[in-house]
Amino acid sequence: MPVTQDDATLMDILQGGRCFYCGEPVGAKATFDHLIPQAYGGADEPANVVLAHRRCNQRKGDRLPSPGELDRFFQERRGSRLGIWPPLKALRDAEPGDEWIAVARAIADLRT
Ligand SMILES: [Zn+2]
Repeated sequence: MPVTQDDATLMDILQGGRCFYCGEPVGAKATFDHLIPQAYGGADEPANVVLAHRRCNQRKGDRLPSPGELDRFFQERRGSRLGIWPPLKALRDAEPGDEWIAVARAIADLRT
């Protein structure tokens, strides 16, 4: 389910009004960044989306989130109805060097 206006408002509250990547205030200029990029099967759902400046979103590009970013995301989402997309949990638990495989496997599992 795509991100609704209500979801975006809740994200803004959970992120303290700040860009997920640089931590600076983001306000109404926020864009939706997909933690697992859509180009790699990342879902267009609130559970895989954070708010970020356009430039931070573009700079992030098609990489996977770092361990530090994942930790922050899991903390922000704890107890929130926005949730955490299951492949992000698989990524967090992946062995170093095995991240893309773990993500691809978790995405395939969702489709079966
Ligand atoms: Zn930013």
